[in-house]
Amino acid sequence: MKPIQMVDLAGQYERIKPEVDAAIARVLGSTAFINGPEVKAFENELAAWNGSKHVIACANGTEALQIAMMALGLQPGDEVITASFTFVATVEVVGLLGITPVFADVLPGTFNLDPADIERKITPKTKAIVPVHLFGQTADMEVIMAIATKHKLHVIEDNAQAIGATYTFKDGRKRKSGTIGHIASTSFFPSKNLGCYGDGGALFTNDDELAKKLRRICNHGSDVRYYHEVIGVNSRLDSIQAAILRIKLKHIEAYAAARNAAATFYDRAFEGLEHVHTPVRSADSDHVFHQYSLRVTGGHRDGLKKHLEANGVPAMIYYPVPCHLQNAYRSGRFPEGSLPVTERLTHEVLSLPMSTELDNEQLTHITSTVRSYFPA
Ligand SMILES: *Cc1c(COP(=O)(O)O)cnc(C)c1O
Repeated sequence: MKPIQMVDLAGQYERIKPEVDAAIARVLGSTAFINGPEVKAFENELAAWNGSKHVIACANGTEALQIAMMALGLQPGDEVITASFTFVATVEVVGLLGITPVFADVLPGTFNLDPADIERKITPKTKAIVPVHLFGQTADMEVIMAIATKHKLHVIEDNAQAIGATYTFKDGRKRKSGTIGHIASTSFFPSKNLGCYGDGGALFTNDDELAKKLRRICNHGSDVRYYHEVIGVNSRLDSIQAAILRIKLKHIEAYAAARNAAATFYDRAFEGLEHVHTPVRSADSDHVFHQYSLRVTGGHRDGLKKHLEANGVPAMIYYPVPCHLQNAYRSGRFPEGSLPVTERLTHEVLSLPMSTELDNEQLTHITSTVRSYFPA
């Protein structure tokens, strides 16, 4: 059996190696390393595939979030409502800009923001909502957009984990994740569903004015070289990464299908296990399985993790400590116990290996190792 990894990037590269190596050589030959034609071409191809009017590539998913908040003119003292059950980047940029993060709890099934709790957390200072499409399916965007419209708030989708997921509105309309809010951000970190071979990120919007602002902020606040309209940052995707992403974009549907096949294998194998709860599929979003995260109840999570690791099966806890209980972000407003679903999940979740390369032998070993932990 091939050794099992959380994410098998080497196996994935092996299958597209000739194409990737040629693309890298092409960029090296062109020496157009920054803002070359590959970046423009990738932006256009990603926009066409995702159904966004504008795609603006940038350096990584964390900066994408920061740039989105800068473009919306969020100021110190403003409040942004987001999840505490997320990767820290979402909350980090809020703090970095002097904005106040306000945490809403998540739903126990999908782990995505609970719209009812978002509405409870709105104050006169609230300016934006940042739903995080956690683990590969979109938050309840129709309800979140309705709340935003009612309270005149902006919505930034953190789409780092769900690129390619499709959300279905009540009237049957379908939209890709990252095209529903005012702005969306994503990450091309290597292990993400659309990953490059370094750092990368992008912003999405359908609004021409916002697109202009986002592009300006990415480029030192400048539209015309050496003339600076606003304070910006230096955030760009390099051409080698863009060339690699153009190749991977062609495979993204096949990659999502491979992840779904592994998820279905897991689901079936865990049927009937009392303490193992397989991922809940959202009623209105399909799943691209950035992570396959179980809930393990009965206090068995940590023991199961050790048992898996002892048998050659890596497993990860995303996330062991929620943002509101991290030393960097603790505040009297969100003490321990203030987000009960989030806090319970941090004790129950366990992510199994998930990648485009898992074969049946590996999947069989993983699932039988899980089952063998629980006495029949
Ligand atoms: C990965 C990730 C980010 C940050 O992306 P980077 O490219 O690593 O900066 C932000 N939000 C979420 C939810 C992520 O998973």
